[in-house]
Amino acid sequence: MQCERCQTLLEEGESYNFHGQVLCEDCYLYLLNPPKACDPTAVAGAVTTRQQLGQSGTAGLTELQKNIYRAIEEKGKITREELLTVVKVKLPELERQIAVLRHCELVRGFKEGDKVYLTKW
Ligand SMILES: [Zn+2]
Repeated sequence: MQCERCQTLLEEGESYNFHGQVLCEDCYLYLLNPPKACDPTAVAGAVTTRQQLGQSGTAGLTELQKNIYRAIEEKGKITREELLTVVKVKLPELERQIAVLRHCELVRGFKEGDKVYLTKW
């Protein structure tokens, strides 16, 4: 058996299962807690806070987050580059807002060809 991500050979009992992928411990931990795109504590925090506040959809979002969400909703799918022309913020700020929307399970990314699109969750 080997890790599907880094191809390390795994001993019996050393493998981890992550969404159906067989992984070594390092890769498993990496995917559980990836460097910046997704922060599990933030996800849990965001979803719980919203549930406590009884919020769903775009309730509780900032104007900027709503604008991003609306643009995604209108287009169905949109690249970050296109989004930047719509919401007029700098890329790092956009990434930060997208991260929040992802944490709230409103928006998700997907790859089509060589482009990464954002769409509704
Ligand atoms: Zn691995």
